[in-house]
Amino acid sequence: MFYVWYQVAALEGLWSMKVLIWDFDGTLAYRAGGMWTAALQEVLQREVPGRDVAADQLQAHLRSGFPWHRPDQPHTRIKSAEQWWAALVPVFEQAFKGVGLESPQATFMAHKVQGVYADLERWRLFDDSLSTLARLTSQAWTHVVLSNHVPELQQIISHLQLGPHLARVFNSAETGYEKPNPQAFLLVLEVMGDAAAVWMIGDSFDVDIVGAESVGIPGILVRHLHKDARDCCTSLSLVPTIIDGTRAGT
Ligand SMILES: [Mg+2]
Repeated sequence: MFYVWYQVAALEGLWSMKVLIWDFDGTLAYRAGGMWTAALQEVLQREVPGRDVAADQLQAHLRSGFPWHRPDQPHTRIKSAEQWWAALVPVFEQAFKGVGLESPQATFMAHKVQGVYADLERWRLFDDSLSTLARLTSQAWTHVVLSNHVPELQQIISHLQLGPHLARVFNSAETGYEKPNPQAFLLVLEVMGDAAAVWMIGDSFDVDIVGAESVGIPGILVRHLHKDARDCCTSLSLVPTIIDGTRAGT
């Protein structure tokens, strides 16, 4: 009886799960047109037509205040998407005031950022994302996403039809831990149980790779190279060759 169970478990991969932890933004997908600065610019153009503000002017006001700017400070007390966005309204408000808008209008526009940023139609997969996930699934790897993101990440993933490829999504907006906080990675290991092998794959050396390696997870830097990265590649299609050892890291 045990032998039969063992056979079934081994066939289904339950005996020795191999886990790949994927970053989302800049790794599997991206927001067309740009991220936060672009979203605030769009709100500005929509609400105050003709008032052009250079991207770097807005960007200067968006370099702090987001939860991922303080990964050392967990935000586990934020329990809902409403609370998460409400905590960011003052950041957007200050940015709009910083480029010359008056208070009532800046506040009004700050509340418009959520709808623009999280608009599902803006999000795109990279060309090599689905094919790489499918190839690695065929090699018995289980995929999870670990992302510092907005509360709408699950809807974005569903919209991109990425859901069937993923066993689980770990979103900082829900867990309260922003990469590279070690707890963000440890939570994945805890939930996924004893894995036979695990890798972190992401486009940020400081956030994804250094964070993962701080808790013993080997990292693969993707989309660009970094002199201190042990394994890195510009295309996701090379990830399987790094994992199976048929390609040396660069
Ligand atoms: Mg990223």
